[in-house]
Amino acid sequence: MESHERVLSDLKRAGLKLTPQRMAIARELAGDTSHPTAQDLYERLLPAFPTMSFATVYNTLDALAKLGLVRSLRLGTAVRFDPNAAPHHHAVCDRCGRVVDVPAQAPSPALRKNIAKTFGFSIRAEERCYRGLCDLCTEDNQQGR
Ligand SMILES: [Zn+2]
Ligand SMILES: [Zn+2]
Repeated sequence: MESHERVLSDLKRAGLKLTPQRMAIARELAGDTSHPTAQDLYERLLPAFPTMSFATVYNTLDALAKLGLVRSLRLGTAVRFDPNAAPHHHAVCDRCGRVVDVPAQAPSPALRKNIAKTFGFSIRAEERCYRGLCDLCTEDNQQGR
């Protein structure tokens, strides 16, 4: 759970002025595990903030992502935002585009060593993207549509 204080301190660390719009953007993402796009969040907040621009939404999310406070993901065509900044994997549904978090373990020392030796690369984290069908779409399939 993300607290109101956490949202405020994240915005401060990002060097952003604490405007009601920015606080609403950060709060909206903090409580959302669906990996929304900036457009999704913009449309959701628009009724409460009719004068808000899409650029404000995108720039706020981008500033938080650059600091590593949230993650930006490129799993399909649009950039999606993730309030869970800890390393984890994602499973993406081929049909409806739903994105589900899958817990990840840190890469083992043996794997790190192997990659460093074979590819000359020092790895920090491992992020996988699984593709398939989510449970809702699997059910649809079994009902023969
Ligand atoms: Zn699906
Ligand atoms: Zn995620």
